[in-house]
Amino acid sequence: MSAKRIVILGGGTGGTMAANRLRRRLDAAEAEIHVVDRDDRHVYQPGLLFVPFGLARVDEIVRPRRRQLRSGIVFHESEAEAVLLDEDAVRLADGSVLRYDALVISTGVRLQPEETDGLTGPGWNERVFTFYNPEGAEALRGALERFDGGRLVVNLVDMPIKCPVAPLEFAFLADWHLRERGLRSRSELVYATPLDGAFTKPIASAHLAGLLAAKQIELVSEFNAGEVDGVGGKLVAYDGRELDFDLLVTVPLHGGAAYVERSPGLGDALGFVPADKATLQMPARPNVFALGDAADLPTSKAGSVTHFQAEVLAENVARFLRGDEPVAGYDGHASCFVETGFGKALLIDFNYETEPLPGHFPTAFGLPLLRESRLNHLGKLLFEWAYWHALLPGRDIAGIGAEMPTRGKRYAAVA
Ligand SMILES: Cc1cc2nc3c(=O)[nH]c(=O)nc-3n(C[C@H](O)[C@H](O)[C@H](O)COP(=O)(O)OP(=O)(O)OC[C@H]3O[C@@H](n4cnc5c(N)ncnc54)[C@H](O)[C@@H]3O)c2cc1C
Repeated sequence: MSAKRIVILGGGTGGTMAANRLRRRLDAAEAEIHVVDRDDRHVYQPGLLFVPFGLARVDEIVRPRRRQLRSGIVFHESEAEAVLLDEDAVRLADGSVLRYDALVISTGVRLQPEETDGLTGPGWNERVFTFYNPEGAEALRGALERFDGGRLVVNLVDMPIKCPVAPLEFAFLADWHLRERGLRSRSELVYATPLDGAFTKPIASAHLAGLLAAKQIELVSEFNAGEVDGVGGKLVAYDGRELDFDLLVTVPLHGGAAYVERSPGLGDALGFVPADKATLQMPARPNVFALGDAADLPTSKAGSVTHFQAEVLAENVARFLRGDEPVAGYDGHASCFVETGFGKALLIDFNYETEPLPGHFPTAFGLPLLRESRLNHLGKLLFEWAYWHALLPGRDIAGIGAEMPTRGKRYAAVA
């Protein structure tokens, strides 16, 4: 029997983990594995949060993609142009066509700052910044260095965004940074969100709103940003509310990759790919799987989610190629460290059914949940090492996986 061909679009967090897990599981006689990405720069995206504060440098958080892939995986440095579902093939910008037996869509999200009126007009990268890509994070570092007090507004334009806690973390770190530099009394910090609170899940939202208040960061909720005047320093909502700023830190609108929209039958109106929430298989196309930020699933878009999904996805791609039924193995598990400044962080852990609860992770003797601690901050810093050396290579970490651990959680806290 000849080797089956697996094509993975996107060689970021999910694509790399899936490729390496599949290579460990299937030998060359069973499967050829191809990964397609438009460039050879793998960014450790959680590190982008630290760049504006001078706590990390872009060159420290970027590594060549090829080097993260196990031997025996073919890397194509090219843009994916279209998926031809009826032909089981992908067309690349370099002119080649890759036929597949199984396809994994892991091309993440596309930032769309140009979709908000005025956002990328005059003032962009002068007074208005995003830290969601390396160039923006680096430019914001310069602006924060020059900032000597005033009104700093952090805004997420609309959901969904990747790492929904990252803008909150930015606000907490900005508070810490301005206090360290003796500028806090001359500064106002505002957190403007389209949500009705600080976060999506009620218990965590109440907790995080309490932290914002304790740090004198004003929370402006249900704020749907429609227009930016980067010269006059005004952020305007669709309902007419205005927020003045000296420095605006924005998380722009997110959509799926452009080729998803161009490929008939592949994505939804936003360019995300529908998938079964437990198997990650596309309902209409059993040989297509969606992973990570690119998938349209009712969970956070986060690296931890992508990691937990990659375990299930690799299992299910291998099963599909053998003609076996998929396992309904993904329960929506998400786990996020939330950096809160002053060397502390809190940790939230949840899934489709269970919202973030207090307690400990992953067992009763582990890291504190929903409570600021130095241990969690250390966990967040150590995570980078685990990312490059354990998670990307596709190794299992005992006790931390696709199934949300329940043992340390205090369910009585919400009863
Ligand atoms: C500032 C910031 C902080 C974050 N912090 C955390 C955190 O603390 N914890 C956490 O769990 N998550 C965090 N995340 C989120 C996390 O990084 C993402 O959720 C995760 O990387 C998603 O993995 P992915 O494989 O779906 O997408 P990505 O890792 O973004 O990979 C997508 C890949 O697809 C490629 N691609 C896109 N379109 C095409 C195309 N047409 N052709 C070829 N290639 C293409 C891209 O080049 C990219 O390499 C953070 C993100 C940001 C921006």
